[in-house]
Amino acid sequence: MNPFAFTQATDVDAALAALLDPDTRPIAGGTNLLDLMKESVMKPSRLVDINNLGLDQVEEKDGGLLLGALARNADTAYHPVVRERYPLLSTAILAGASPQLRNMASNGGNLMQRTRCVYFYDVGTACNKREPGTGCPAREGLNRQLAILGTSESCIATHPSDMCVALRALDATVHVRSMSGARDIPFADFHRLPGDTPQIDNTLQPGEMITHITVPEADRFIDHSAYIKVRDRLSYAFALVSVAAALDLDADGTIRAARIAVGGVAHKPWRVEAAEEALVGQAVGEAAFLQAAETILQGAQGFGQNDFKLPLARNAIVQALTTAARGTDHARGLDAQGEQA
Ligand SMILES: Cc1cc2nc3c(=O)[nH]c(=O)nc-3n(C[C@H](O)[C@H](O)[C@H](O)COP(=O)(O)OP(=O)(O)OC[C@H]3O[C@@H](n4cnc5c(N)ncnc54)[C@H](O)[C@@H]3O)c2cc1C
Ligand code: SF4
Repeated sequence: MNPFAFTQATDVDAALAALLDPDTRPIAGGTNLLDLMKESVMKPSRLVDINNLGLDQVEEKDGGLLLGALARNADTAYHPVVRERYPLLSTAILAGASPQLRNMASNGGNLMQRTRCVYFYDVGTACNKREPGTGCPAREGLNRQLAILGTSESCIATHPSDMCVALRALDATVHVRSMSGARDIPFADFHRLPGDTPQIDNTLQPGEMITHITVPEADRFIDHSAYIKVRDRLSYAFALVSVAAALDLDADGTIRAARIAVGGVAHKPWRVEAAEEALVGQAVGEAAFLQAAETILQGAQGFGQNDFKLPLARNAIVQALTTAARGTDHARGLDAQGEQA
């Protein structure tokens, strides 16, 4: 690990002033950044601790939800408002990592976590994301975990977050600040595709910090949502494929509105609004859900080891929509009292 200086900011302005130096990184829970520093993948000369800035709120705001960037994943997922009004988000967060990690991991850090591509972590290998211009050995190498959509010649990495898949489905907004002001980034525009600059994960600019995330009111989806995560182990494993699905249904099972975002398949949570629009007015059922899956996966391409993700993603989308249609308590595995069944 490279030597680095460490400071603790006591207010947002002090943190933003420290971030004017491009070699300074903010540290929140440290669960991703410190691993990357230990492997010399990231080598900031200075860390600024942003844990004590009063940005740890989880609260209702303007009919929706406000999540502080420094609120912990566990506090967010178990917050009564999130559990009751945003079960899709709660379930997705709880599908990630382990209880210990979720106690440390912050919401802002979750959005900013970096890919789990093995070459990215191994400084003895080439990797365009870590060292632009060196190549992408994953295309013909170890790509079992990697992307099938939105890839480029330069990079086929995936974004590993579970929380972000639900936030994409729920049309969240990321609120950021720098010394020059504040701006809001629609979640769809926060993460980016790799193109020929895979070293850039997202649209956060140098000197900017995430302050909070807002999620609009989504009560019509409370009764019918599901997060399905397919992985190698039941705990402590990143998604091979995950799906956040939410349905708004008429009493007779006709679809009024649908949301579907897919994780583990691209450099950002993958959502195709045309597939959701095509579901409106249809009856719930396998035929409609398969059609949505085909639309979402149009253009998907495997690279050998990850070819299995094409049928896996199709089946996971159908399963998530089917589970959502049956009802949220069923999807959450809860009994009538709201306890884990
Ligand atoms: C073994 C293991 C298993 C895991 N499994 C999963 C999983 O299954 N699903 C999943 O979703 N995640 C998983 N994770 C990832 C975990 O969720 C992230 O490491 C965590 O969310 C990062 O949050 P943090 O607060 O620790 O970020 P840090 O490690 O402190 O920071 C991460 C990055 O974000 C930047 N950053 C932090 N806060 C801000 C901010 N407010 N504004 C701008 N930049 C910021 C930092 O500079 C750094 O670059 C796993 C992690 C580990 C170690
Ligand atoms: S897929 Fe991306 S992160 Fe992985 S080796 Fe290729 S360039 Fe690096």
